Amino acid sequence: MVSEPTPRATTRKPVRLCVRCSRVTDAPVVVSEVHQSSGPGFNVYACPECAPCFPPLPDAYDLLNGWRGRNEDGAE
Ligand SMILES: [Zn+2]
Repeated sequence: MVSEPTPRATTRKPVRLCVRCSRVTDAPVVVSEVHQSSGPGFNVYACPECAPCFPPLPDAYDLLNGWRGRNEDGAE
């Protein structure tokens, strides 16, 4: 195994990997929030250039409503 030196200066900015173009960006935009019932969720990031390509964040409220059944309201 090769022992790599621990980089220190790379953590001064909250850099994230863009989920779309796989580039590292220092201005990450949250495009999706993943919630897990078994543990803490995580955020999916994109760079500012790719962020507009993603749909708006799904509202947790909408998700809950979907789970409870769409027929209940009878709106459609
Ligand atoms: Zn990108």
